[in-house]
Amino acid sequence: MLYTPPPVDPKAPPVRINLLSDTQTKPTAGMREAMARAEVGDEQVGDDPTVNALCERVADLLGKEAAVYMPSGTMCNVTATLVHCRPGDEILAHETAHIIAREGGAHAAIGGFQVTQLKGPDGQFTPETLRKALHPRTRYQPPQTVVSVEQTANIGGGTIWKKNDLDEIVEIARANGLATHMDGARLLNATVEHGIPAPEMAAGWDSVWIDFSKGLGAPVGAALAGSRTFIDAVWQWKQRLGGSMRQAGICAAACIYALDHHVERLADDHANARALARGLSQISGIEVQEPETNLVFFKTDRAGIPGDKMVSALRQRGVTLAMMDGRIRACTHLDVNASQIEETIGYVREIVRGA
Ligand SMILES: *Cc1c(COP(=O)(O)O)cnc(C)c1O
Repeated sequence: MLYTPPPVDPKAPPVRINLLSDTQTKPTAGMREAMARAEVGDEQVGDDPTVNALCERVADLLGKEAAVYMPSGTMCNVTATLVHCRPGDEILAHETAHIIAREGGAHAAIGGFQVTQLKGPDGQFTPETLRKALHPRTRYQPPQTVVSVEQTANIGGGTIWKKNDLDEIVEIARANGLATHMDGARLLNATVEHGIPAPEMAAGWDSVWIDFSKGLGAPVGAALAGSRTFIDAVWQWKQRLGGSMRQAGICAAACIYALDHHVERLADDHANARALARGLSQISGIEVQEPETNLVFFKTDRAGIPGDKMVSALRQRGVTLAMMDGRIRACTHLDVNASQIEETIGYVREIVRGA
């Protein structure tokens, strides 16, 4: 995740309200207990019962045949494209996609793939934009082999792709022989918000994954799902890249706990994000993008204070958040409550008044 947190200041008070990212959540006492109790084995040889239980659970949750546990979401994206594509192939994704800007160039460095950057507002492209970007299979052009979407679109503002658009993209991809990949780092935020079950949301997508270390609040891991054949092929890359683990059940237990306790409550994060956006938008000069899930992007320049100054001033009051691509991003999660949101709005008002 690429964001610019406030500069380190040894004299700043301790952080009391952490809106930096949903990756900042700490395992709860209940989660730690589940981890301590976990039965474990050797994950690398398929012998860790807790990891196996998690994988079955995720395959079921996402409506796919099989799933594999990974150390990170990035490894889900990378192993998925490595299975879908051959060197020289073209991936189509939105220009703000994590696979382009946030994965160290892995898809080019390891796979030899190029990514075509599709444009569109809020981190999404339309089915029509995809259609226009497709070209005939000739020896001159790179083979277009996979189309990728982010549900929710992170830099796009945590926006939710509509089920209709997802279905249409699958249809276009199928008709043109492309595979479909869904970066579902925050997929469950989308399913909870729209009330659409995950298997429906991910129907027709060849690969889809969820991250446990974001809003779900687990310390480590993500799980990638797809057909049995696809997951078998992914395992080869997991091994090659050093992603096979040992007693990973300790971490998988936290993920199972998160699925049991932290999915429905994502709605609270969305309510907090909406409350934050509402409060901020009532302060004269502050421009806020209406949040759809747990990410709130806003600008304070017109209120007379540049974003980085606002971020530093909030840090002096024990609130931490970050600049991201020229805007301030606040992220609500498990460790932020409604009264802390009110407190934050109060500080922003105070800082704008003093500017
Ligand atoms: C965080 C994130 C990733 C990468 O996940 P890690 O677990 O941090 O490697 C990929 N895509 C999106 C949209 C993300 O937000």
